[in-house]
Amino acid sequence: MTAAGAAVRTVLGDVAPRELGVCDAHDHLFLRSPQLPGQELDSVQAAAGELAAYRAAGGQGLVQWTPYGMGRRAGDLPALARASGARIVAATGLHQAVHYTPETLTALRAGGLAALFVRELTQGIGDSGVRAGLIKVAGGFHGLDAHARWTMTAAAEAHHATGAPVAVHLELGTGALDVLDLLCAELSVPPGKVILGHLNRFPDLTVHRQAAEAGAYLALDGPSRVHHATDWRMPDAVRALADAGYGDRLLLGGDTTTAAARSVDGGPGMPYLLRRVGPRLALAVGEELVDQMLTTNPAAAFAVEWPG
Ligand SMILES: [Zn+2]
Repeated sequence: MTAAGAAVRTVLGDVAPRELGVCDAHDHLFLRSPQLPGQELDSVQAAAGELAAYRAAGGQGLVQWTPYGMGRRAGDLPALARASGARIVAATGLHQAVHYTPETLTALRAGGLAALFVRELTQGIGDSGVRAGLIKVAGGFHGLDAHARWTMTAAAEAHHATGAPVAVHLELGTGALDVLDLLCAELSVPPGKVILGHLNRFPDLTVHRQAAEAGAYLALDGPSRVHHATDWRMPDAVRALADAGYGDRLLLGGDTTTAAARSVDGGPGMPYLLRRVGPRLALAVGEELVDQMLTTNPAAAFAVEWPG
């Protein structure tokens, strides 16, 4: 259930949560990182094509998890949302240190990271006027380094100021319980405002169940060339969580992170989530739960009672 005054903050303004519709809860129209040279998602034309393909496959809502300083192109998102009719949600937040120059990180330390997140959530990203609807941060491989603790502490502070959900990249799907220990136990973020991404890349079904039991949302995403070894385990993971009674904690995403993965470039891209992943999961857990994972669950996960 979502509270009466709650809204999802899209790039075209706040909407009633159910208006997200069929939602890809973790994806990227734009993404740039020194870690992915030559694979930048930086073309407005390609993004428009990908969105059109997603819409044609039945997609309505799309949450872009690209954080600060990674080529979000926030200023281009409203026109893409208008042209496609998609409900697009943009992110603030910060990824792992390897995605930034030391100069950028030094400047962010001086300027105050939580203040930046709050500004992007409440006033807008840069001078685009586009406000973010979630805070994206990242853990490390089976643990949290000083950078992760710094960014998660800022994310928790921004959550307490705004109510925005905190979406977490788990490195190779690991560290879920460490993230919940920090964000929820230490920093008092309600577990229901935490969305754990990539858990399917580390298919320890017991850890999945512990994270769901704690009350966090689990955003399962892919397929991915890099994580091909675990992609095929996702239906079993979803079924185990559904059998344990956690169907209302599950979100689905495409997580397109490279140009080669876009459908307009011959990859699976965003439409694949609805064309193949959804029907495959329906064989494991039934259509009704898949519908819930694509509609009701994201509506609840991204709904916020935004301050005045
Ligand atoms: Zn992602």
